[in-house]
Amino acid sequence: MNRKIAVAIYACLFIISACKHEKKEHWSYEGETSPEHWVEIEKNSDCGGMYQSPINIIEKNTVLTKDVNHLEVFYSPTTHLSEVENNGHSIQFGFQAGDSIRYMNETFYLKQIHFHEPSEHKINGVIFPIEAHLVHISKDNKITVLSILGIEGEESQLFELFESFLPLKNGESKKINTVIDLTQLSIENQEYFSYSGSLTTPPCSENVNWIIFKQPIVISLEEVLKLRDNMPLNNYRIEQPLNGRVVYNNLN
Ligand SMILES: [Zn+2]
Repeated sequence: MNRKIAVAIYACLFIISACKHEKKEHWSYEGETSPEHWVEIEKNSDCGGMYQSPINIIEKNTVLTKDVNHLEVFYSPTTHLSEVENNGHSIQFGFQAGDSIRYMNETFYLKQIHFHEPSEHKINGVIFPIEAHLVHISKDNKITVLSILGIEGEESQLFELFESFLPLKNGESKKINTVIDLTQLSIENQEYFSYSGSLTTPPCSENVNWIIFKQPIVISLEEVLKLRDNMPLNNYRIEQPLNGRVVYNNLN
């Protein structure tokens, strides 16, 4: 009987330590689980793939184009924000189905917006104070991310609204039922860079159309700092090699 109890205790301890081990291997932005270790610790991911994101966009190496993949934005002034979450990697806002974009003859629906501080994409080697990712998903699970870079200047009313739901601790989420005017982003008819890449977080899936707007949004230093205080320090992945990919420079 004592022997059975001892075996049971050992089994429990083994399971607990195995779980701890698994938790310890979860990816992050620092130390032994930082981006340079994602390939080893996220075994079933594409993080070691050939077509990864983010990249450094060197404008003189881009291919000028007009209307090749034509982007159409169907954002309304009354988009429903449904929740906000601190997922331990970023601050993420979720949307009710509704707003969409059309790109490469396919419709993608706005699912969430989250932020990186500082930016993940660089333009001509320049890092921006903030990068917003507007993640859109098609009916067959293809992804198009609109990236808006931020520079410091005047306060942004849109960011004031986003940040009015902060602070949020790691793992905390809030249900919101409010309306937001995404037409304030003024991204229709903007020039942008585009290329094929991946999610910038594990599993780093290589099924992402990237659209990086050339015109940055202006937000105040206080707004940048407030977001930073609610996210892990430096929540960005370093630039990935292009490996022969073409970056398009989409002119109006
Ligand atoms: Zn992102």
